[in-house]
Formats: sequence, structure tokens, C-alpha cells
Amino acid sequence: MSRVVIIGGGWSGCAAAISARKAGAEVILIERTDMLLGTGMVGGIMRNNGRFTAAEEMAAMGGGELFEICDRNSRHKNIEFPGHKHAALYDIGTIHGAVSDYLKAIGVQFHYKNRISKIEVSNGNISCVQEQEGRIFEGDVFIDATGTAGPTANCIKYGNGCAMCILRCPSFGGRVSITGLAGIVEYVGKKQDGSYGAMSGSCKLYKESLAKEIRDELDLKGVVVIPIPRNLVEDHLSVKACQQYALKEFKDNIILLDTGHAKLMTPFYNLEMLRRIPGFENARYEDPYAGGIGNSMRYFAMAPRENSMKVEGVQNLFCCGEKAGLLVGHTEAIVTGTLAGHNSARLVSKKPLLELPRGLATGDAVAYVREEMKTEKGLTKKYTFSGSVYFERMLKLGLYSTDTGEIAKRVEQNGVKGVFSKLN
Ligand SMILES: Cc1cc2nc3c(=O)[nH]c(=O)nc-3n(C[C@H](O)[C@H](O)[C@H](O)COP(=O)(O)OP(=O)(O)OC[C@H]3O[C@@H](n4cnc5c(N)ncnc54)[C@H](O)[C@@H]3O)c2cc1C
Repeated sequence: MSRVVIIGGGWSGCAAAISARKAGAEVILIERTDMLLGTGMVGGIMRNNGRFTAAEEMAAMGGGELFEICDRNSRHKNIEFPGHKHAALYDIGTIHGAVSDYLKAIGVQFHYKNRISKIEVSNGNISCVQEQEGRIFEGDVFIDATGTAGPTANCIKYGNGCAMCILRCPSFGGRVSITGLAGIVEYVGKKQDGSYGAMSGSCKLYKESLAKEIRDELDLKGVVVIPIPRNLVEDHLSVKACQQYALKEFKDNIILLDTGHAKLMTPFYNLEMLRRIPGFENARYEDPYAGGIGNSMRYFAMAPRENSMKVEGVQNLFCCGEKAGLLVGHTEAIVTGTLAGHNSARLVSKKPLLELPRGLATGDAVAYVREEMKTEKGLTKKYTFSGSVYFERMLKLGLYSTDTGEIAKRVEQNGVKGVFSKLN
């Protein structure tokens, strides 16, 4: 049996593990912290705008498991907030258990607290990766799912300092790129002013620290929009990684979403000012701990890759998630992860690698982002099915749909129905 070694247990690494396993491989998933899902532990928004279409395309292609798990763990479905329709919000308290139980049940082998810091490469092939205590993992094919967040040095240099986020770099050691260790020159994302990286666009507040009326509305409706008194408005729109939420409404209002905790849709907000807004007098940050001054910095170190997700310049290395380019989001990470996991099994079985057709939003996004990243301007943007430039493109090309029957038909017409169900 071929062995696929995945480094990084965020949404993309988990998706890669499932599709590689379904394609018949032995799968080893290595994570530097003590939890799966990476930045997905503090996210939660699914199915907003074009993400609905992408999730349904994946289901029709036989890669819908993680979307089903998210749906089953959603606190709210089909909600609206400014600029966003038919969103679902998964519960950040239950999602980790649900995903890890599923991966265990299908036989994925996990290794937590193993931070890969060395690799061996000969003749353009990786033979093994090594974690910092010296343990070696051999494999036939490797997947770089290490994300682009941190390490601390990047948050200090390009952001407002380490704000103590879910990635916990000081405790577990920062992110290490496998593509970088293989000697490949990586892409770095830029802000519109040309400086490097982008700041994560939301924080979590303890729901218990908010006024009862806010908590009740959040529990009932899933979303609360509170106008900010003019003297307390802070503008962080231009630094945001998630440009789909860089709308004026997100500056002029406190927008909270219920993902178990209260997801505050701004990169950071001065705590003293926040506490002057009625209902927020006792507000406390749950993530990042220092959400009053900043947030994690992301989009450093993206791999040059083919549309099959193979990393250019290494024969047996694939990439996915943020590592695969300026695609923001859980849905986007699951799409690219599923493709990378499936193709890793194809590579070992000497089958031609799969590229998703451009007649589908998923296939077009993978190819379009690769093209855009070759341009200076393209590197300053972020791409997501849920808004901003890529959703606009979906609308223009007629790729957006919420009709599940129509989406399934399109997948069939493009010749990829059930393609991720097994290795064909
Ligand atoms: C605060 C915040 C809120 C967000 N909210 C949403 C949202 O609501 N909806 C949405 O769709 N998207 C959201 N996003 C974006 C989304 O979380 C990411 O784009 C996506 O989940 C990235 O997944 P990934 O697997 O590529 O990377 P990551 O989630 O970054 O996972 C990478 C993993 O690799 C591990 N790793 C790194 N280096 C090594 C190494 N050398 N050895 C072993 N392990 C390693 C890391 O510990 C981490 O677990 C949010 C992001 C943030 C930061």
C-alpha cells in the first residue's frame, strides 16, 4: 500500500487525508500543535455566497464529507449578514471532535505535537520528513498543508506583534514550510500598500462577557449588527486578509456571528473603546487573547504549484489550503486539500493527475488564482468563493448557483461526477 504523509492538520490537511484514504493509501497526518483544524478552530462561516456552490460541487464529485460534518455541527443555517447570503455557522466547540472522530474511523494515523523541521530530498524526490525531536516519517508522497500563518517573527515584523492566537507558536514552535525546506522559492502575499502578509479578519469574544440582550439575539438569530457611535469607529478594512468582509458596513457596525463564542468581524478592536459601546462594558477576547491590539498575520510562503496541486520543482510533493495560494477560507482549503490528497494517490499509482474542469467554480478558482499569482497586482488580492474579486468572477461567468440539482448536473456534464469517491 502506498503511504501519503501529510504535514499540517488544518482543514486542508484533513481534507487531503480523507481523499487519499478513499483512494486507497495509508495516511499519516502530522500536526505541530495538540489539535486539528488549525485556523479553522476559530472560523466557522460556511456556505456564504459562492461557497454554497463550491460545497455542492464537491459533494457531487464525491468529496462532500467535511461539508456534511460542518452542516451537522452548524449552530445556524441559511442566515444573512451584510454582503453575505445563505451562510451556515459551525460550532467551534464541537467541530474538532467531529472531524477527528471521522478521520480516526476511516483509519487516518495522527501524530500531534510533531513539528516537521527537516526533510531529506534526493534527485527531486522527498524520501522522509523529520520532526524536531528527531523522529523520522518515511513516505511515497508528501503533502504540504502547513498554512501561511505566523510564525511569531512575521506577526511581529509585519503585524502588531504576537496577539496570542489559536496557533500558539510560542508554545509549539512556529509554522515551518515543507516547500521552503525543499529549497523552492515561495510566493509572499502583499497588502494593497505593497507591504507583506495580511491580517486575519476576525476575533472571538466570550459570549458570557456580553450583555444578556446581545447574547439572546445571537443565540436566536446567529447574527447581531450594532451601529458603532461615530467617535468609537476604528477602520481596519485595508489590512484584512478576508476582503469579502472589507465592506463599509463592517467598519460602521459591530457585526457578531454566533459560532459558539461571539465572532467579532474585525481584525482587532481597542478593548477600552469596545467597552464604551453599550452591551460591551465587560467584553473579553477569547481569540486572539490580545485581540485589542492585533491578530495573526498570514499569506507568507505559498508554493508555486500546478493545477493538480503538485508543487513545481519537487516530484512527490503536493500542497493545499493557504499553502496553495491566496485562497481564503475553510471551503477553499477543503477543495484544494481534497484534490491534493486524491492526486497524491494517483501519482503513486502512476495514473494521470486530475485537474478540475474550468466549467466548475472549484476548477476555475484553482486555475485562476494560479494565473493571478504570477502578476504583481494579483499578489495583493485574496480570492474566495464568498465575495470580493473571485465571487464577482463567478457571477460574471455564470458559475454561481444555489440549485443543487443544477450543480450536480453541471458536475456530471464536466465529466467529474463521483471522481473523489475512489481511485478510478
Ligand atoms: C481568526 C480567523 C478566522 C477565520 N474565519 C473563517 C471563517 O469563518 N470561514 C472561513 O471559511 N475561513 C475563515 N478563516 C480562514 C481559514 O481558517 C483558512 O483560510 C483555512 O482554514 C486554512 O486552512 P489550512 O489548512 O490551509 O491552514 P491552517 O489552518 O493554517 O493549518 C495549517 C496547520 O499546519 C500546522 N503546521 C504548520 N507547520 C507545521 C509543521 N512544520 N509540522 C507540522 N504541522 C505544521 C499548523 O499547526 C496548522 O494546524 C479564518 C482564519 C482566521 C485566522
